[in-house]
Amino acid sequence: MLYKEGVPTQDQVLSKFPSIDVLIKPKAIIECYENIPCNPCSTSCPFGAITINENINNIPVVDFDKCTGCGICAYSCPGLAITVSRVKESKALFKIPYEFMPSPIEGEIWYAVNRYGEVIGDAKIIKVDNRPSQDKTLLVHVEVDKSLLYDFITIRRKTNG
Ligand code: SF4
Ligand code: SF4
Repeated sequence: MLYKEGVPTQDQVLSKFPSIDVLIKPKAIIECYENIPCNPCSTSCPFGAITINENINNIPVVDFDKCTGCGICAYSCPGLAITVSRVKESKALFKIPYEFMPSPIEGEIWYAVNRYGEVIGDAKIIKVDNRPSQDKTLLVHVEVDKSLLYDFITIRRKTNG
């Protein structure tokens, strides 16, 4: 699936998530599936929560006990392959990297989009981080319905705002 369509299988996606009880706190979900020479996720994490080991081609692995959900790795990854996820009551809360214009604004409702680029619901913009250290990659805090936890990946602006 990944090689034919550029989209991971549901099993591949699920393999990147911790159990649902762990997601009461925010955790990094690293959707990096290929052996590539890359490691900013690991070197940027101030908590040593991402391991790649001595071979830079290894696939990164998150220690969910160490991950605080800060989101630094999400905007540090050049492939935009990392989100931060958590569940709260009937909602799934994400921090996602975002590099398109126009930028989302707190309080707006955008479309929630899956890995196929399909609209799957609404996404409420909770907050937008844009610190100088992020080098213009926004970290957008988004709220979607909890049923979208494993399908949601990004946002798309509604044409009427
Ligand atoms: S979210 Fe923060 S603590 Fe967790 S892996 Fe990423 S950089 Fe490390
Ligand atoms: S920085 Fe991103 S693309 Fe590079 S290894 Fe880490 S998750 Fe994969």
